Amino acid sequence: MTRTEIENAVREAVEKNTAAAKRMSETEKKKMTPAQQKIRRRQQNALIRNLIQLFFFLMMPGAFVAGFSGVKSIFQKVAAGSVLEMDSFVKALIGLCIFTIVFGRFFCGFACAFGTFDDFVYWISGLIQKKLLRRKKQYSLPERLSPWLQKVKFLILALIVASCALGIYDRFNQYNWNPWSVFSFITALRFELGGYLIGIVILILIIAGMAVKERFFCQFLCPMGAVFAIIPQFPFAWLQRDAENCLKNCRACQMKCPVDIKLEPDGFRNGECIGCEKCAGVCPKANLTRWDRRLLKNEILPVLIRAAILFLLGAYLGLCRFL
Ligand code: SF4
Ligand code: SF4
Ligand code: SF4
Repeated sequence: MTRTEIENAVREAVEKNTAAAKRMSETEKKKMTPAQQKIRRRQQNALIRNLIQLFFFLMMPGAFVAGFSGVKSIFQKVAAGSVLEMDSFVKALIGLCIFTIVFGRFFCGFACAFGTFDDFVYWISGLIQKKLLRRKKQYSLPERLSPWLQKVKFLILALIVASCALGIYDRFNQYNWNPWSVFSFITALRFELGGYLIGIVILILIIAGMAVKERFFCQFLCPMGAVFAIIPQFPFAWLQRDAENCLKNCRACQMKCPVDIKLEPDGFRNGECIGCEKCAGVCPKANLTRWDRRLLKNEILPVLIRAAILFLLGAYLGLCRFL
C-alpha cells in the first residue's frame, strides 16, 4: 500500500467512527427522558465549575489577598499623603475590579481560592452530616438572617479602611490577626505560622461558620466581597430571568442560591450575587440566560471563555503561581 492509500484509509475510518459516535450520542440523547437530560445538564455544569475552581485554586491562590492588599495600600498612601504608586497590589485590585464590572462576580463564583475553600468546607460538612450523623437535610443557618449578616462585611471593610486611613492598621496587624494571610501561607505550602496564633484561631472559627452556612465568609465577612458588592456592574454581566416563562410556584433557582438572593422578575440585579451560576444550572426550563449564552447557544462555552480571560488577566498581573 502506498502512503497516500494508507492516509486515505485512515481518514475514511476516522470519518466513519466520528459519524457513528455522533449518531450514537444523538440516539442516546433521544433515549434519555427530559428528567434525565436535566440531571445530566446539571452534573455537567457542576463538573465544569469544580474543575475551573480547582484550576484557579492551584494557579492563583493569592489573587484575592493581592486585591485586598491593593485596597489597604491605597488608603495607607492617602493617609500618609504620599503619591499613589501603581504597585502590583493596586494593579491586582484594579484588574479584578474591572473584570468584575464587565463580567460580574465570576471571580468570586469560579476562581477565588478562599471561595473555593468555603465551598469545599460546606460540602464536607454536608457529607459528614449525611453519612455520619444520618441527617436527611444539611443544617444551614436560617435564610432570614442572611440579609442582616451580609451587612457585617461592609462594617469590616469600613473598619479596615478607617484604620488604614488613620495610620493605625499596621499597629493592629502586628498581632497577626489576619486569617486570609494564614490561609495564603497554607496554600503557598509555607507553614511557618508560629506568630499567627490569633489568625489561626480566627480561621478555625471561620471554618466552623463555613460548615453551617454556604459561602459563610464570602457573604458575611469578606472585605474584598464588600468591595465587589459595592462596585457597579454592566447590566449585560447579569443573568436574565424571563419570569413569564417560569414554572408555576417554582423556586428552584432561589433555593439553590448559596447567598440567599431574592429573585427579581427579570434578573439578578444584586451586588451580593457571587456569579456562581448554580441557579442557572438547576432551572428546569433553562430560563436563566445571558447574552453570551444566547449568542453561543451553549452554557459551558461562555464560562470557559470567562475563565480564559480571567486567567490571562491573572498572568498579566503576575497573580499566577507558576508563570
Ligand atoms: S467574597 Fe471574598 S473570599 Fe469570597 S469569593 Fe469573593 S473575594 Fe473570595
Ligand atoms: S443568583 Fe445565581 S449566580 Fe448569583 S449567587 Fe445566587 S445562584 Fe449564584
Ligand atoms: S428555576 Fe427557572 S423556572 Fe424556576 S423560578 Fe427559577 S428561573 Fe423560573
